[in-house]
Amino acid sequence: MFNEIKRLGKLAIQDFRTKQLSKIFPLKPTVLNLLVNDVCNSRCQMCLIWKNKKEQEFSPDELAHILDDDLFSDLKYVGVSGGEPTLRNDLPEIFEVICSKKPRIQYTGIITNAIIEDVVKKRVLDCAAICKAHNVKFYVMISLDGLEEVHDTVRGRKNNFDSAIKLLNYFHKETNIPTSFGCTITNSNALYVDELLDYAKSVGLYGRFRVAEFINRLYNEEQTEFIKNFDNKTLYHLGLFFFRAEHHFEKRKIYQKTYRNIRGMLVEGKTRQIGCPYQTKSVVLTSRGDLLYCSPKSPILGNTLQYAPRKLYFSNIAKRQEIIKKDCDNCIHDYHEPITFKEQLSSALECRRKNKIYNCAVLTEIASKLVKQKRSTTDLSSLRSKKVLIVGWYGTETVGDKAILWTVIKNLRSRSNPPKQIYLSSLYPFVSLWTVKEMELGDIDVVETYSKEFEKVCNEVDEVVIGGGPLMDIEPLNHILYAFIRAAKSKAFARVEGCGIGPLVSPRYVKVVNQIIRLSDHITLRDRVSTERCIKEFSLSQVSTVSDPAADYVLSIKNQPEFLQDKVPPLGKVRNVSCFLRKWTRKYSGNLNKAEYQSMKCNFEKQLTKLVIFIGQSKELDIHLLPMHTFHVGGDDRVFNRDIARQISHLIVEQGFKPSVDFAREPISPLEILQSMYHAELNICMRFHSVLFAETLDVPYIAIDYTGGGKIKAFLERKGKLDRLISLQDIAAGKWEHKIARLL
Ligand code: SF4
Repeated sequence: MFNEIKRLGKLAIQDFRTKQLSKIFPLKPTVLNLLVNDVCNSRCQMCLIWKNKKEQEFSPDELAHILDDDLFSDLKYVGVSGGEPTLRNDLPEIFEVICSKKPRIQYTGIITNAIIEDVVKKRVLDCAAICKAHNVKFYVMISLDGLEEVHDTVRGRKNNFDSAIKLLNYFHKETNIPTSFGCTITNSNALYVDELLDYAKSVGLYGRFRVAEFINRLYNEEQTEFIKNFDNKTLYHLGLFFFRAEHHFEKRKIYQKTYRNIRGMLVEGKTRQIGCPYQTKSVVLTSRGDLLYCSPKSPILGNTLQYAPRKLYFSNIAKRQEIIKKDCDNCIHDYHEPITFKEQLSSALECRRKNKIYNCAVLTEIASKLVKQKRSTTDLSSLRSKKVLIVGWYGTETVGDKAILWTVIKNLRSRSNPPKQIYLSSLYPFVSLWTVKEMELGDIDVVETYSKEFEKVCNEVDEVVIGGGPLMDIEPLNHILYAFIRAAKSKAFARVEGCGIGPLVSPRYVKVVNQIIRLSDHITLRDRVSTERCIKEFSLSQVSTVSDPAADYVLSIKNQPEFLQDKVPPLGKVRNVSCFLRKWTRKYSGNLNKAEYQSMKCNFEKQLTKLVIFIGQSKELDIHLLPMHTFHVGGDDRVFNRDIARQISHLIVEQGFKPSVDFAREPISPLEILQSMYHAELNICMRFHSVLFAETLDVPYIAIDYTGGGKIKAFLERKGKLDRLISLQDIAAGKWEHKIARLL
């Protein structure tokens, strides 16, 4: 505890020195971005340095003279780039100068395009050896913007992917030089970045992702076709991608913060939130000796071969203030800023606040003491609520949840006195904001769950509704109970619309659900099992079973054939079997131990691949893989689809099968899912709502039950369609061919 306070105190002083005091007493730079040349053998979409002819470049002696200046006396880190730095024959001499500098620096490294494999390898090894001799840490970063031709397209160089991968593998596996890749995202590779991340994870490579920015020193102001020119759907896709990179790839907080910032700028309309080291203590030196405050927007401050660097740097501070005022807010360049004292403190306080307010045990206690005066209304359309809050798992919504939300909102708006304001509480607002846009839900106020705004809205509304989804064993049930307690206190109408109950076994959450049910004025549940449980376990008398609200959305589209008939689905109209698969997670593995689960999962995936190919072959259909969920939280089906697609492609090549396989890279809307199902010859449905969609749309389908006789089986039983069902266990055991052949 004492050490933690000491650490925070030190951080507070540091931040004050860097961010406040430096406005009056500017700091000397600790970081130097050293551009050793201004020529390049690449042909990148986002950089036109390659159009330059070689001209003046500082010599190692000149560089030594520049770095001798007092401006560089605090320098700790020098990052070397260009142009392409390895095109300089005297690169090792440059590193000799960097490492010999007094006072000594701690860290240096190089970024290369890895085009001329043997030259790059030699140069990097030579530079690494010099750094080692001087006891200065060294790293190499290799540009890698995608897999195969995706990379070559962005870089404008055939076979560059091969040389980049070879060198990455070489440095990563055969040397002890810290090695990473750097991916710059343009319009060309935006949809392919997930595949690069999959690849990096599968082979244990580390890398960073950045969005291409307009940067003065790259002469790229006219490259508007490629830089930051994404349509809305691609922006959302990138928002999802940077969330995944932040939570499922990057381990260091400083870079996670950068990814969070990029996401905020791309999809939440935010300005740059993270500051930038080039605003206070970093500087750029070009190969001509020109000094800049930063690469993207700084004017040239002057030439260090003619004027003292210190003078140039400190006499132009007003220009840096001008950049900060004019450009930084919109600059997405990935310069990283460590977590500040203010951020650490506010995150700790916020965490404490939430733990205090949203503790399930405390909330259950509070709820149990409330006397609920139930309002007995059977006709919801007669309600006259002016402000309605929808709570639930929004922010992590699947395609099915989006359809449910559509129905909940449609029902509210079709009242004779529709609400004037509808709020949607969302665990991840950027996801729900997209849902509102994608589903054309109109004027909906998305509020962040657990925020102070959420609490304010809970106090103001006259109706709260849990719109669909299961009431199950997860901690975020706390916000629903919180909203229901507020509703009970303010006499607002509280109701449950079309939810399921379970999986619910933990005594802690059973108590929470019990209180939610007790504080409800009106309850409809989406299946008989949930209703029976409610009646038995929660002593409820007034509850009715309704069809899943998502069905209403499907029926509405089905009744408007113009949305289906002539539309081309995302993967095209070619004759296909469309698959709506999901990863089988431990949560659904019942009583299996870890080893049994792993073994069954592995067998299931192998057999599933064979099953899909079997169908494709038997009916001469292409294979289309589509996601019912595209967000990392809740399991992005696109990750599983890519994995299955790789396995299918592998078998197709190995065995010479005819069907080709394709998968969706972008997020797919509920309407696009329905269009895909409508035009498919057959649908293989695994996610629950894909089964419901196919059944309601009345198209041919096979359902895979991964829930061990849970909601999918119950649904098909009700519909009298159990013959469509095949269990995951039967597939894993290879007992599917007979049944599938019968269904085809
Ligand atoms: S323009 Fe960008 S790189 Fe330059 S100081 Fe501002 S945020 Fe940093």
